[in-house]
Amino acid sequence: MAEIQGQQPTFTVVPVRNETNLRQHVESGNGVNNDRTSFHNFEAEGEPTDTLTQNSITSLLSAKFRGVAKRWKQYGVDSPRFRKRLHSKWESMNYEQIDSQLQRKQSEEQVSKKQLVMLMLSNWLVYFAIGIGTALMAAGVQIVVELIAHEKFSLIRKYLDKCSTDKEDCLIQPVMIWMSINAAITLMGSALVTYGQPMAAGSGIPLIKSYLNGVRIPGLLSLRAFIAKCLGVVLSILGGLACGKEGPMAHSGAIIAAGIGKGRIPWFKKSLNLYGMFRTDHNIRDLVAAGAASGVSAAFGAPVGGTLFSVEEAASFWNTELVWKVFFSAMVACFSTNFLLSAFEGHPTQLSNPGLVRFNTFPNLTFDLIEIPVFIVMAAIGGLIGALFVVMNYKLTVFRQKYLHRKKWIKVVEAVLVSIVSAIAAFILMFTVKDCTTAKPYNSHAITTMMSCTGESHNSLSTMFLTTPEGCLKSLLHDPIETYSVLSLILFIIIFFLLGVWTYGLSVSSGVFIPSLTIGAAWGRLIGLGIVQLFPDQAKDVGKYALIGAASQLGGCLRTTISLTVIIVECTGDITFGLCIMIALMISKWVGDFFTTGLYDMNIEVSGIPLLSWEPPPLCEHVYTNDFMSQPVMTLLPVEKVGHIYDCLVGESFNGFPIIEQDPNYDMMYKGKLKGIILRHQILVLLKKRVFCPEGQLPANQNSITLKDFENPYPVAQSLKIEDVDLNDEDKQCVMDLRPYMNQTPYTVSLNFSMPRVFRLFRGLGLRHLVVVNDNFEPIGMVTRKDLAKYRAEIKKGMLHMEHLT
Ligand code: ATP
Repeated sequence: MAEIQGQQPTFTVVPVRNETNLRQHVESGNGVNNDRTSFHNFEAEGEPTDTLTQNSITSLLSAKFRGVAKRWKQYGVDSPRFRKRLHSKWESMNYEQIDSQLQRKQSEEQVSKKQLVMLMLSNWLVYFAIGIGTALMAAGVQIVVELIAHEKFSLIRKYLDKCSTDKEDCLIQPVMIWMSINAAITLMGSALVTYGQPMAAGSGIPLIKSYLNGVRIPGLLSLRAFIAKCLGVVLSILGGLACGKEGPMAHSGAIIAAGIGKGRIPWFKKSLNLYGMFRTDHNIRDLVAAGAASGVSAAFGAPVGGTLFSVEEAASFWNTELVWKVFFSAMVACFSTNFLLSAFEGHPTQLSNPGLVRFNTFPNLTFDLIEIPVFIVMAAIGGLIGALFVVMNYKLTVFRQKYLHRKKWIKVVEAVLVSIVSAIAAFILMFTVKDCTTAKPYNSHAITTMMSCTGESHNSLSTMFLTTPEGCLKSLLHDPIETYSVLSLILFIIIFFLLGVWTYGLSVSSGVFIPSLTIGAAWGRLIGLGIVQLFPDQAKDVGKYALIGAASQLGGCLRTTISLTVIIVECTGDITFGLCIMIALMISKWVGDFFTTGLYDMNIEVSGIPLLSWEPPPLCEHVYTNDFMSQPVMTLLPVEKVGHIYDCLVGESFNGFPIIEQDPNYDMMYKGKLKGIILRHQILVLLKKRVFCPEGQLPANQNSITLKDFENPYPVAQSLKIEDVDLNDEDKQCVMDLRPYMNQTPYTVSLNFSMPRVFRLFRGLGLRHLVVVNDNFEPIGMVTRKDLAKYRAEIKKGMLHMEHLT
C-alpha cells in the first residue's frame, strides 16, 4: 500500500532529555484536542452537536447533497441512527502485531520440522476442541431445558385440567402456580446475570460483534460470563420469558473458544501452557469467531449458516484459511450436538437431532412463481414489524438506562415482573379465547389442556403456551391448518410481540431469534389462512406462509441476509424454497433499513461502543487527517527517564506513545523523527518488571524479558494500571531502554489523507493507533479508532448533516 509509510528500525542511542524539557512537555497541555480545527471545537466547547453550522461545511453539504444521497443509499445507512455518544469505558484491542526487536528475535529462532508439524496439529486441535466444547454445552443446555420444561408444563396442565371442569372452580391455583414458578426461576436467572456477570445479559451477539471489530469488552469472555450465560439461558426459558437460547449459544461458544485459546483456568490462576501461540489478541479473535460460528451451528444444526453468520454479522477480519478453520469447528459442533442429542434419545447412530431448534421438513414446501408477489408483500410486512420492534425496543432501552438501571435490584424486579405478566397473559388468552380444536398437534409430545373445551377437543392456544418458545414455533409452522382460529392468532401476535419487545434487553440471558421467528410464523400463518380462504383450490397448506413470515420477521429485526437464508434453508432441508427465503430476507431488510438500523446495531449504538462499520461515513471525503487527529503528540525518547515515563502515564490516559529520535537542533522542544510506537500496557509491564537501570548501565533483567511477559497471564498484563506500579525517587532517576519492545514500523499517514482512506486503513488492518507525520517524518498528530468512530452522517429535517459524537 503506497500510502502507508513504514519506518525502518534504528538503533541509535539518543541522549535522555533534561529535566526541564521533560516537565515542560508534560505540563504544556498534552491533553487531547486542545489545538483542534473547526470540527473539533464543538467537542472542546463541551457542546455535543447534531449539526455542523460552519459556512464552509454547510456549503459543502448542499453542493454534495445529491451525490451523497445516492451513496448514502448504497451504504445502506439511510435510516435514522440511534447512537448519541461513545462511551469511554470501551477500549480497543491490539489486533495489530507488534513488530519489535523482541518479536523479530523470537521469530528468527530455529523451529524444527517436527515443531512446525506439532504447531499446525495443535492449531487444528484447538479448532476441533472448540467444536466439541460448544456441542457439549449446547446439548447440555437443550437436555436440561427440555426435561425441566416438560415437568413444569405437565404440572400446570394437571391443575388447569383439574380446575377447568365445572365442578372445581379453582382456576386461580394453576395461575398462581404458573406465576410462582416463572417468578422464582426468573429471579434466579436474572440475579445470576445481574450480580454475577452483567455481560451475560441478552444474546451477546452485539458484544461479540464489537469484540471482533476491535473493542475490548471486559468480562465478555470470562468464566463467570460463561456460567451466567449457560445457566442464565436455561433459567430464562424455564422462567417463561419470550426468548430463545440460540443467540446465547454464539456467545457461549465464543467464551469456550477464548478459554481454550488462553489455555488458562481463570479462578485457579493456572496456565496449561499448551498453546502459547494463541494468546495474542489477534489469535484469540480468530478463535472467538470460530466459537461464535460453532454456537450458531450447534443451535440450528446449520454449519454453513453458522460460518456465514460469523462472517456476516460478527467478524471484521477474514481470510480463506480462517474461514476454513471456522467451518471445521462449526461442522464438528453440529455433528457432535447431533450425536449427543441422539444418544440422549437412545439412538446415537441415527443422528436425527442436528440442532437445538429444527424447523423440520415440510411436506408441501413447493411454490408457484405466481406466489412470489405474495411473498414480497409478506417480506415488506416483516420489514415493517421488524422496524417497529427495533424502535419500541430502543425507546424501552433508553427508558431503562434512564430510570431502571441505576440499581441492580430494579433490573431483577423488572425481569420477574415480565415473567409473571407472561404467565398471566398466556392464561388470560387461553381462558378468554376458548379456541377448541380436535386437530392433532404436530408434536406428539405436546402438552395440551382442555380448559373449557369438551369431548375430544383441546384448547389450541395451550399448544403454544404450554411449551418452550421453540416448541411454540414448531407448532405454528407445522400444526394442521384448522388448529388455530384467526382471533387466537391475532391476539397471540399482539401479546407475543409486546412480550418479545419487553423481554429483549432485560437483565437476563436471552436470544431474539426464536421470538422473532415465532411472531413471524404467527402472522405468516394468519396470512396463509387468508390465502387458503381466497384460493381454496390452489393453496391448501399454511406452513410455507408461516415459514416466509418467520424469515421476514427475523430479517426485519436483525437485517442479516446471507447467513439467515442459509440457516433457514439448512433447517428446512429444502433448497428449492431457498429462493423464497432469500427474497423474504432481502426485502424485509430493505424495508427495515428504510426506517431503522437492525436490532444488534441499535444495541451497539445505544451502548456507545466505538464500532467501525464496513464503510466510512458519507460526506467525509473533505475531512482530512488534520481535522480529526489529536495534537500535540505526547512522545517518548528511545531511552527515556523513568520519572518522565511515570509522569506521562499518570498525567494522561493515552494508550500509545510515539517514540522519536530527539533532534539536537531543537533542544528545548522535543521534535524529531519517528522511531516507533510503544503501547501503554507494554510500558506498564516493563515498569512492573523493573526493566530499568541507572544511566550508562544495562538493566540486569533486560534479556530475561520475553514476549510472553506482555501476553501472559492473559489478560492481566493488559489491565495493569499505573497505580499497580511502585517506584521510589531513586527508581525515577533511572532510564529505560524502550527500543527492544517498541513497534519499530508503526503505520503512519500524512496530513493530506482524507478520512475515508484513514478509515479503510483502520478497518482493513485492525489498527488501534495511527501516527500522523509531517514531511520530515516527525509525529504531529495521533488518530485512534475512537477518533474515527465519532464521525457519522445523519439526515435531519430532510438535510444531510455530519455529526460528531462526543
Ligand atoms: P482506546 O482506548 O480504545 O485505544 P482511545 O481513543 O481512548 O481509544 P487513547 O490512546 O486513550 O485511545 O487516546 C485518547 C485520545 O488521545 C485520542 O483522541 C487520541 O487521538 C489521543 N492520543 C492518543 N495518544 C496520544 C499521544 N501520545 N499524544 C497525544 N494524543 C494522543
